[in-house]
Amino acid sequence: MAGPLRETPRIALVFGISGQDGAYLARHLLERGYSVHGTSRDREMSGFGNLARLGIRGRASLHSAVLTDFRSVVEVIARVRPDEIYNLAGQSSVGLSFDQPVETLNGSIGGTINILEAIRFLKLDTRFYNASSSECFGNTDDRPGDEATPFHPRSPYGVGKAAAFWAVANYREAYGLFACSGLLFNHESPLRPARYVTQKVVRGAADIAERKAETLTLGALAIARDWGWAPDYVDAMHRMLAFDRPEDFVIATGELHTLESFVEQVFSQFGLDWRRHVETDAALLRPSDISRSVGNPDKARRLLGWEAGTRMPGVVARLVEAEMRRRHGEDAA
Ligand code: NDP
Repeated sequence: MAGPLRETPRIALVFGISGQDGAYLARHLLERGYSVHGTSRDREMSGFGNLARLGIRGRASLHSAVLTDFRSVVEVIARVRPDEIYNLAGQSSVGLSFDQPVETLNGSIGGTINILEAIRFLKLDTRFYNASSSECFGNTDDRPGDEATPFHPRSPYGVGKAAAFWAVANYREAYGLFACSGLLFNHESPLRPARYVTQKVVRGAADIAERKAETLTLGALAIARDWGWAPDYVDAMHRMLAFDRPEDFVIATGELHTLESFVEQVFSQFGLDWRRHVETDAALLRPSDISRSVGNPDKARRLLGWEAGTRMPGVVARLVEAEMRRRHGEDAA
């Protein structure tokens, strides 16, 4: 993908390198000659399974750091003295945030401010990317969410992301930091844990195809989302920090698909009729959910030269293919 990438900085520090985006971003940066450092809350306890799946487990320097603990944040940043910091760590499940609201909110706002303060305190020129989210917008009923769309989050997760977004904007304006937020819409991959609905559907359909299960139970099938492919989205993060000024960007495919159509496509890849196997249960509904969530990535296309490479139904095809290979003992992340 062509784009306005500048001469590459040398050292990157990825908070949350063990997660989906952290692993793909680490691979992306290593491929571009970066020295990559990454954090986990406990380096000794984390298996860094996603780095292993991508074949880069031994190529990143790994540190322990807890985002809500300023001492640990400032120590790792002082030790690494990175040119770029990516904050991808934190409780990332919208559903779980209703059960762990304080942890989710404190982690998002406190962790982000700790990194911003550490950059200030150490007087570094470090560029900072913060993982914000489409969840800040809530429903995008009238038109796709863009950089001017007002926020109306509908979960503790979204409230935390919105607060962190404004902290980043404030530190940029008040102290001149090169700090940006990416308002990323849902992006998927085989590295997503099973609790996310996309993986739940893919694994559920595979189980039914293999006669290990008969039904799959889901919440609301009418919700609609803008689903992209995670490796494309980490490229956008990198481009934001390579841009000549710090700005916030919406990263999305621009296409809206219902969960029902996602389910239908996954099941048809396995030769199954989803109507015979999928049931819904109101107990799985969230206290407040987003019915429609779609983004307008026009600014990223114009200024960063970024565009989603894989869209639906390609996302479905790649997820199903990866799941089948995983079940046959091959990895395809
Ligand atoms: P993951 O959940 O895969 O990874 C996040 C990492 O953060 C984990 O590997 C874990 O690392 C650490 N973590 C988990 N729980 C906590 C916690 N309670 N406190 C501190 N750290 C924690 O997330 P993704 O890679 O999918 O997402 C990266 C970032 O982007 C997150 O901030 C997410 O909210 C955001 N985002 C993701 C989107 C998506 O579609 N994937 C969309 C928009 C935003 P360890 O256990 O090693 O400490």
